[in-house]
Amino acid sequence: MNTTDPQAAKRGRDEINLQLNETEREIMQVIRDFARNEVKPRAAEIDATAKFPEDLVKKMGELGLMGLPLPEEYGGLGQSYILFALMIEELCAACATTGLVPDVNISLGAEPILMFGTEEQKQRWLPQMCSGEKLGALAITEPGAGSDAAGIKTTAVRDGDEYVINGSKVFITLGGVAETYVTSTVTNPELKDKHRHMTDFVVEKGTPGLSFGQPMHKMGITGSPTVEVFYDNVRVPVSHRLGEEGDGFKITMDTLDAGRIGVAAQAVGIARSALEDCLEYATQRKQFGSAITSFEGIQFMLADMATAIDAARLLTLRAAYLHNQGLPCARESSMAKLFAGDTAMKVTTDALQIFGGYGYIKEYPAERHMRDAKITQIYEGTQQIQRLVIARDLLKKLRA
Ligand SMILES: Cc1cc2nc3c(=O)[nH]c(=O)nc-3n(C[C@H](O)[C@H](O)[C@H](O)COP(=O)(O)OP(=O)(O)OC[C@H]3O[C@@H](n4cnc5c(N)ncnc54)[C@H](O)[C@@H]3O)c2cc1C
Repeated sequence: MNTTDPQAAKRGRDEINLQLNETEREIMQVIRDFARNEVKPRAAEIDATAKFPEDLVKKMGELGLMGLPLPEEYGGLGQSYILFALMIEELCAACATTGLVPDVNISLGAEPILMFGTEEQKQRWLPQMCSGEKLGALAITEPGAGSDAAGIKTTAVRDGDEYVINGSKVFITLGGVAETYVTSTVTNPELKDKHRHMTDFVVEKGTPGLSFGQPMHKMGITGSPTVEVFYDNVRVPVSHRLGEEGDGFKITMDTLDAGRIGVAAQAVGIARSALEDCLEYATQRKQFGSAITSFEGIQFMLADMATAIDAARLLTLRAAYLHNQGLPCARESSMAKLFAGDTAMKVTTDALQIFGGYGYIKEYPAERHMRDAKITQIYEGTQQIQRLVIARDLLKKLRA
């Protein structure tokens, strides 16, 4: 929960308290048990069949995980973003597909409504996301506008008490499965300031003119549907607009600032799982008459992997702490996502190396971790875009 204590907010940047209280420890134990006993045994099957794990999502809803950091008044558990990051890590360590579902639902579906919605909008959409009965998604990316989010072409034209939306989106996670789509549009194309021409709307599934493409075939996180979304004269009431006309770019950027904490946590979970699996394998695998863990070359790889994972987790929890205090965290969440994504890719590649030839074979989990890790360097802004965000923030502070 965001604190309203200004002193705590001031201290936030210098003092980071990551200690969990008793309730938080109990919740983490529930999450750990669920992840290890019910999610992890399903990971290989979900990957192989590319099937959305509906039953696990239902169970996460029942456990309260689908709205863990969201306020209790809207059906959430009202827990901290630190606990949220730890939850996403734990779930993604068990199965990357399953873990990203509450992350997308909370960070991308619910957060923009929580941050910018009216009371009526929050009451209408947040409880169904918290229960996991109806999920939320975010639709920014278009075929011609990925990294350059302000370059979108989907339009929303006011017509009385409604807006008429036309255009298309691509790569939308949970597309077709989710109930609500926070959709970025252009309402004022004539404006020179390309940061004031966008407006966001919540578009509900079932609205006439809204349709979805077939799930795209992906290299990793295969059980999460990624689809094109089409808007053909989709009419939404003015009451579905988030904020005012022109607020869309800010809503999108603020959503992604916080959202990147979740992607970083996904990356930490995937990397941790790869290390755990290869530690187990390496202690049993013998070559030259000894376990391969007796070789310094392997030990150094393991040490580097563990060190990078811990550093990635600490960066992630720092960003989560700042967001929890209601403090800006654009630079810190980009640093966390950048470092954790690169760590996930390096650790999963090295873990596969430690498995030797078996790592290349699908019966072993190493290649799945490597395929799952790659997306954390791409979505919610590529690694190049994270560097731009960090550098801009550094330079802005120098000029200030
Ligand atoms: C599985 C998956 C799920 C996704 N889920 C969602 C979702 O739910 N909602 C949503 O809206 N989007 C989603 N996306 C889209 C994702 O955020 C974009 O793919 C990503 O932001 C990159 O955009 P792009 O693919 O158009 O690449 P481009 O923007 O075309 O980039 C191509 C390359 O150019 C580099 N580049 C671009 N601009 C610069 C620059 N200024 N400086 C240096 N390098 C640059 C990029 O880093 C990249 O390497 C998803 C994508 C995937 C693959």
